[in-house]
Amino acid sequence: MQVNGYAAMAFNTPLQPWRFERRERGPRDVLIDIDYCGICHSDIHMVHDYFDLEARGIHEEQAFPIVPGHEFTGRVLEVGDEVTAYSVGDRVGVGVLYSSCRSCGHCDEGRENYCPEVQFTYGGFEADGITPTYGGYSTKIVVDEHFVLKVPESLDPAAAAPLMCAGITAWSPFAHLGIGEGHKLAVLGLGGLGHIAVKFGVSLGAEVTVLSRSASKEADARRLGAHDFVLTDTENALDAHQERFDFIYDSVSAEHDIVGPIRCLAYGGTLIMVGAAPDEPGKPGFLQIDTLLLAAQRRNVHGSLIGGIPEAQSMLDYCGEHGIVCDVEVIRPDQINEAYRRTLAADVKYRFVIDCNQF
Ligand code: NAP
Ligand code: ZN
Ligand code: ZN
Repeated sequence: MQVNGYAAMAFNTPLQPWRFERRERGPRDVLIDIDYCGICHSDIHMVHDYFDLEARGIHEEQAFPIVPGHEFTGRVLEVGDEVTAYSVGDRVGVGVLYSSCRSCGHCDEGRENYCPEVQFTYGGFEADGITPTYGGYSTKIVVDEHFVLKVPESLDPAAAAPLMCAGITAWSPFAHLGIGEGHKLAVLGLGGLGHIAVKFGVSLGAEVTVLSRSASKEADARRLGAHDFVLTDTENALDAHQERFDFIYDSVSAEHDIVGPIRCLAYGGTLIMVGAAPDEPGKPGFLQIDTLLLAAQRRNVHGSLIGGIPEAQSMLDYCGEHGIVCDVEVIRPDQINEAYRRTLAADVKYRFVIDCNQF
């Protein structure tokens, strides 16, 4: 099946319209008519060679063209004979997870995101191990029903789309660490992940403080429910907040100081790092930590990668019950490159979402 979409044809090039082939629908597959797809900062890292594809054994010739997009909503157009959970017309979503082995310990426990054979919705491979997966910046996609999520009809489908990546990437560590009432949570960086982390933190009962370089975001932070806002645009900005927080959710998308934030952790506190962390000194996200800074107050540094299918479904159900969605700016496909520029400039309020019916 031929579909329309947008692709980066090579590293660091603007995205452009591209027509490509989707795989045949199998008996356990769902064919989805995509309505809205969010722009995650990971899409930008990927197109700009941030994730070091070579280190993961994927050569540039194999990796491109890339059709990004791993947080989208749509409606079921067709289902295979063995599909049990979905019917034609259902409102559904797909996130970063596209396939996994389905038989390892992680898969058994619903942590497909940590399966050694996990394949992502784009930047991975189909079951043949050769055909690249192409993401949600397109009109239609074929996905195994196990990796399809039910999106509550009560949620706006454009504003719900980023829940499939940004949402679950905040929800999963919060659930794992039991963040909620009685906790002081700071959210470092108010972007796509950060803004939904604020909403979840507030909804779960934590006292939430936003740490941001952008003074212009203070009003938004408070509108999102944050109880406090600290401007971090100067070197000593965090000095007055030492040992203040139980958790800091750090979703900063570029190289940044983490010593200041770690000093802000109270006894036993945890820095949750979800921003991209390439694997070489000098590259954005690479960590160098004074271990005594951790030892002094029994502090933790915690990593987390998106979330598994069952917990993503729990998150969507929770969002349906509590009316939680993302703050989005819906754009046309021809605005994607401009949206990338604005996201890199931290000028995003707070997620760009592409209207996929216009591809
Ligand atoms: P985003 O919308 O661009 O937000 C990132 C925010 O970080 C910006 O809005 C800005 O907030 C702050 N920031 C940016 N550059 C900074 C710098 N040099 N120093 C300090 N702060 C800076 O990005 P996103 O889509 O939320 O993604 C955030 C990161 O998480 C990306 O690296 C992405 O690849 C990664 N990610 C990880 C996972 C995972 O599973 N672990 C999942 C999705 C995304 P202020 O203006 O408030 O300072
Ligand atoms: Zn993402
Ligand atoms: Zn597995």
